[in-house]
Amino acid sequence: MKTSITITTLILLTSVPLTSGHSPLSNTNLSSHTPHTMSPQDPHPAIIQCSIRNFITASHILHHHAVLDAYGHLSFRHPFSPTTFFMSRNIAPATISSPDDLIEYHITDASPVDPSAAANKGYAERHIHSEIHKRHPSVRAAVHSHSEAVVPYSVSGVPLRPVYHMAGFLRASGAPVFEISEHWREGDVKDMLVRNEWLGAAHAAHFDDGVAVVLMRGHGFTAVGGSVEEVVLRAVYTAKNAAIQTGALTMRGAAAFLAGGGQVSTSGAASDGIRYLSQEEAEAATEMTRWSALRPWGLWVREVEACGLYVNGA
Ligand SMILES: [Zn+2]
Repeated sequence: MKTSITITTLILLTSVPLTSGHSPLSNTNLSSHTPHTMSPQDPHPAIIQCSIRNFITASHILHHHAVLDAYGHLSFRHPFSPTTFFMSRNIAPATISSPDDLIEYHITDASPVDPSAAANKGYAERHIHSEIHKRHPSVRAAVHSHSEAVVPYSVSGVPLRPVYHMAGFLRASGAPVFEISEHWREGDVKDMLVRNEWLGAAHAAHFDDGVAVVLMRGHGFTAVGGSVEEVVLRAVYTAKNAAIQTGALTMRGAAAFLAGGGQVSTSGAASDGIRYLSQEEAEAATEMTRWSALRPWGLWVREVEACGLYVNGA
């Protein structure tokens, strides 16, 4: 017997008034994972509704900052159940607009908590998120992106490293790169997507030892964080760091060219000549972005609220 409730029912029970942008609250199925008793005074539904509204806004922010386009996705762990997480159904993140666009999944196998939600087709790559949430209990949210600024660092052998203070969370020695071909099994579709549990598990293992960002060869990157706000900041500044690093490497190459009298060196360089953040600097900068994350968050929320493209009916 099912003893807890789905997203839409949780919102129905909350005391927070609903706006006209809501879809019909028709799903009253009960699921079995919520450990607490629900009552009209229970604060949990209101918190979950805030989490859903935050998730929708975060998806819009990630699109607004070109971290996500029609592809890519965000997930967050259930605030009160460590065994489930939420993602949107299979639509472009900029068009997520209602709680009905979200699906709650079991972390164990990325199956929907509400079986009828299977009709609302989910993302093919949801195993990226389920396996991260499974292996890393401290992770509360994850972003998977195909950022064009970052992809070159997944295929060139040039490591993505922190070049400025807003990206100290990138590993000083370089963000690890997930090589999917090392993990394909017989019958796997080789379209670079993380389509199953074993590929998701291999990818999730790259986040061991506190790694916050992992690149994926010929595909993109994934970032994790202790909150939706933190992972959004990390995803946005991963892409910015990549653009800055590319600019610095380009200028360094031009400087080397000019120093050589306009002749292309054939000797090869021992170093790329860029001064990256040290490990100590990167750690301190990571702490700084932790305590200051709400400043950009507040701005980014206002930006997407002011843009007519984005609708948040949660
Ligand atoms: Zn992808």
